[in-house]
Amino acid sequence: MSKINYLVAQAAPLNQLQEIAPKIFWLRLAMPFALDHINLWLIEDDEFWTIVDTGPDVEQARASWLEVINNQLKGKPIKQVLCTHFHPDHLGLAGWLCKEHEAELLISKGEYDIYHHLFSELNHTDRSTIEAFYQSIGASEKQLASYEKHITMFSKIIHPLPEQYTALKDKQTLTLGGYEWLLVTGKGHSPEHICLYNQELDLFISGDQLLPTISSNVSVWPTDPLANPMQDMLDSYHYLLATINDNTKVLPAHGLPFTGGLIRTNKLIVDTEQDIENLLNHCHQPRKLAETFSVLFKSEITKHNLMLAYGEALACINYLRVKGKLSVNEVDGVNYYQSI
Ligand SMILES: [Zn+2]
Repeated sequence: MSKINYLVAQAAPLNQLQEIAPKIFWLRLAMPFALDHINLWLIEDDEFWTIVDTGPDVEQARASWLEVINNQLKGKPIKQVLCTHFHPDHLGLAGWLCKEHEAELLISKGEYDIYHHLFSELNHTDRSTIEAFYQSIGASEKQLASYEKHITMFSKIIHPLPEQYTALKDKQTLTLGGYEWLLVTGKGHSPEHICLYNQELDLFISGDQLLPTISSNVSVWPTDPLANPMQDMLDSYHYLLATINDNTKVLPAHGLPFTGGLIRTNKLIVDTEQDIENLLNHCHQPRKLAETFSVLFKSEITKHNLMLAYGEALACINYLRVKGKLSVNEVDGVNYYQSI
């Protein structure tokens, strides 16, 4: 087997629960973004439901949820809202659902904390550190404004989280739907991303940590400019290799459920290593960060994905700097990167 296999010929209809395994339901929620859907997972217990991820806090997603809650949950309440990580499409409606249904929020401490950090950053009036960071990587004033837009947009589509939560940890087990689930954390895409492995069904809810067709963004942000999240991501891929197998039914946050998780993970590792190798070769002469985009990204970089492109290019740069393969020289306040 060299390719992944999809478990279904086509996606579940939007906003319609579909049982993918006993007591485990797939909800493909429509989103008004370029990425037009997210897969949510609902686990049924005798008396209640647990939701894994929620969708963003936008009118369309709230309307979808109201339809599902009123007509498809068999009259049982939502008791637990589990979020894989803090990105708005995963956690945007968690606060709303918890409040409306007096449900408990389950999330890792790393994700809960970064959510609060993000909101505190929005309240800072002194932007000098952020400005210095973007100037050093060669961003223009106009491009810096898109960072502000990026985090402001983030906050707009996340409903405030509850004041209390239950912290999830790596290797912990949870009982949901009568099954035991092993929690498996991943780093790199977000600080402490939770995945859930059900050994009895050999089924893995992967969130954004393992997707069938796209690779999740791995970014360095202004608060931690020397971070090495690409190493974290590669380490997390290796952790996945030791956790799942090629028969495991992988339920991703985007795209279709599939088997061949090892094939997919190995491909992501090889592609990442190849990108980094290409970057190193490209930096035989000094390069500004934006000059590395052409070797790292196939898709066109526009104002919509620019901040993610800067973040991911810097993640590759930092990975090579930690390995001692790349040096940085500052000229007129702008960093130039060159292989050693
Ligand atoms: Zn994400």
